[in-house]
Amino acid sequence: MESEKATIAVIGGSGLYDPQIFSNTKEIKIYTPYGETSDLITIGTLEGKRVAFLPRHGKRHRIPPHKINYRANIWALNQLGAKWVISVSAVGSLRMDYKPGDFVVPDQFIDMTKGREYTFYDGNVVAHISMAEPFCNNLRKIAIESAQKLGITIHESGTYICIEGPRFSTRAESRVWKEVFRSDIIGMTLVPEVNLACEMQMCYAVIATVTDYDVFADIPVTAEEVTRVLAENAEKSKKLLYEVIKRLPEKPDERECSCCQSLKTALI
Ligand SMILES: [Zn+2]
Repeated sequence: MESEKATIAVIGGSGLYDPQIFSNTKEIKIYTPYGETSDLITIGTLEGKRVAFLPRHGKRHRIPPHKINYRANIWALNQLGAKWVISVSAVGSLRMDYKPGDFVVPDQFIDMTKGREYTFYDGNVVAHISMAEPFCNNLRKIAIESAQKLGITIHESGTYICIEGPRFSTRAESRVWKEVFRSDIIGMTLVPEVNLACEMQMCYAVIATVTDYDVFADIPVTAEEVTRVLAENAEKSKKLLYEVIKRLPEKPDERECSCCQSLKTALI
């Protein structure tokens, strides 16, 4: 599979297992030093660009957040030549004005995970990457402008708190995330995906799709409601991905973002 290359990668979250927006698709398996990726990677064409798609939890949603092989996933996408990584992720909301069905492009995160593989630099070479600005501002801007063009309600910033899971928060925890940590959205899969993408000097941003309010709100939700919002969000995500990929240049412009030089000051 030497010839397979894709400069754009999409990692799909809950509800988005196949975007169905690519033509000439084929599924490939990439062998990594870290073991198996979440699933086969689909490579397809959109607007003349080759795009790689990987469902984060596997196609049948069989891998829980704490068991996802984040290192294998990012290593494989890097191996394919991905420079842009668009991560689509279902989240809970910690504020009333970020409503179910809305989209958020976070600009910060807080890591409350407990025991994951956080780095490719496990010894011999030590790297402390900067995470002050964890997401690619170029990619964030393109995602925000694309959503606005499509009439999708999108919030231009937010702090994503990543919890270990797989359980949801207690009401007391939810209040801490909201009132003490001032987080805006909550999920279980951002870390260490974002760290690893940064170590690979990829341009990474999240399109977070709000499924429901977290438990602080004390609003009972039914499984039917969650399923309905997930399905509606998946449809909007597909339209948004189409627009974002259409607008993405082949390669990131290193003058405009610092993501691609993240290792320059990180190696010790
Ligand atoms: Zn970037």
